[in-house]
Amino acid sequence: MWKCRGPENYCNIFSGIAKPNRLLFQKFQSVFPYGFARYNRRQQLQRPLQLITNTRYNIESLLEAVGLSRDLQHKLPHELSGGQRQRVVIARAMALNPEIIVADEPISMLDVSIRASILFLMNDLRTRYQVSYLYITPDLASARFFSDRIMVMYGGHLVEIADSSELIRRPSHPYTQLLLAATPSKHRKKTTLPQKGYGVPNLWSTQKGCPFAPRCLYVQDACHVTRPPWTWITSTHGVACFAWDQFRIGAGAKNHIKFENIP
Ligand code: SF4
Repeated sequence: MWKCRGPENYCNIFSGIAKPNRLLFQKFQSVFPYGFARYNRRQQLQRPLQLITNTRYNIESLLEAVGLSRDLQHKLPHELSGGQRQRVVIARAMALNPEIIVADEPISMLDVSIRASILFLMNDLRTRYQVSYLYITPDLASARFFSDRIMVMYGGHLVEIADSSELIRRPSHPYTQLLLAATPSKHRKKTTLPQKGYGVPNLWSTQKGCPFAPRCLYVQDACHVTRPPWTWITSTHGVACFAWDQFRIGAGAKNHIKFENIP
């Protein structure tokens, strides 16, 4: 999820037009799945947190902001559960009062039972501290819960972008449809995944056509030789596909999967 808030510089930095300066670096923080690996196992948590917040009060308020007890600062890393560790990683990211946090699969290594609580926490911090997230995940279900806008990438290429609800209800790229079909849902009958094979894209090749062509059910001759052009279906919904209007949900194609029942 990324709300482009604040100076326009952020948009330019993400798109590679501008380089971030030292001041802007403070406004960007990151949360990784194994962010806790950088902590020294022999140091109490107080120490790494002190490096960025030099008062005891700040450490305690930081820990409380992420739902942890203030006594936790005296513990060693191995004494924490996986969920507590990820909360500490989030606390550290929040310490510099960032405006954007790049959250790269922040719940992927957590037990399923506590994934939701971490997402709720991040959502809560967003409201309380006006922070935005660039949330990177292969899981469309959590992206839909957590994001305002979703960008779908395949083989290093952006293939579709839309507001979350629009993308879920009217996926217009075959890869987005495949991701949705692979998402468990009580509303959908068991179905085979809409793809030809399981090949992975060759990121080293100088392939000219569509990167999804080897797996696409709707592949055409042009898909093998030309990169599909970017099309704006609406002012906020864009897709890179030659045939998006032929198999789009509701377009009458035989093979499409029905997602209308997804709440
Ligand atoms: S451009 Fe062609 S191969 Fe690529 S997703 Fe669209 S129909 Fe499939």
